[in-house]
Amino acid sequence: MKGESPALNGDMDIMAKTAIITGSSRGIGAAIALRLAKDGYNIALNDLNEGMFENNSIADDIKALGVEAEIFCADVSKYDQCEEMVKAVKERFGTIDVLINNAGITRDGLMARMPEEQYDMVIAVNQKSVFNMMKLAGNVMIRQKQGKIINLASVAGLYGNPGQINYSASKAAIIGMTMTAAKELGSRNINVNAVAPGFISTPMTDKLTEEQKAKMLEAIAMKRYGTVDEIAGVVSFLCSEDASYVTGQTIEISGGLSM
Ligand code: NAP
Repeated sequence: MKGESPALNGDMDIMAKTAIITGSSRGIGAAIALRLAKDGYNIALNDLNEGMFENNSIADDIKALGVEAEIFCADVSKYDQCEEMVKAVKERFGTIDVLINNAGITRDGLMARMPEEQYDMVIAVNQKSVFNMMKLAGNVMIRQKQGKIINLASVAGLYGNPGQINYSASKAAIIGMTMTAAKELGSRNINVNAVAPGFISTPMTDKLTEEQKAKMLEAIAMKRYGTVDEIAGVVSFLCSEDASYVTGQTIEISGGLSM
């Protein structure tokens, strides 16, 4: 690994930095992984199983940029699986400098008809996972005395969205968790921020009905959907030294949805 990465800056004794991105086989997570690879990070990819990486070239695309990439399968809603993954990433790369909590699901339905299990499932995957990973990777960062954590919230967590009582609860919680973790970890030189995307074209939003999509477009000042690269760019900035005094913030990336 040493000597191959642009992040080494020619110094053989300095280990390249490592970023772990949950749910990164596709969509926003894959775009963030590629962008951070371009920024010089070794990349720990994650998703539920290896099969999810079979039909894409994300790991090879990252390696082609001159950094390392490896897939670590884990269900991030399960604490023990996160524990094993964080240990494996640390063993493989030596450090964990950036954690992107990106894995997320939607299971939409009106509150009046939503089964309890449907609520609990979204909370487990979107919210509990953030506790699991911030605690475990955060402890590695505390020992390293530096780190960056970025959590994927959503405009649904800021303003609510009909049919998404479970999703908006999970994303609003992430905003509170981001501020709490920023306060707990700030003195250890660890920045914790969130981004709140609006309507971004990905497999997740492809599931919305045409009517839902048209309604959303009407409310967006820029009159277009966002791209995964527009999320990755802001995440890259938050991971950079240019954002070294930014912590506990949630940056909305929505083309002006809320105004
Ligand atoms: P996506 O295309 O559905 O990708 C999410 C990835 O996370 C999928 O590969 C998914 O696998 C994986 N995942 C799900 N549960 C997991 C688990 N328990 N453990 C590990 N990985 C898991 O979603 P996206 O649109 O890129 O969204 C990424 C993040 O941005 C999410 O947190 C989402 O809530 C947030 N966000 C997206 C938008 C948007 O407009 N797209 C807007 C606001 C916020 P499966 O295929 O098995 O589910």
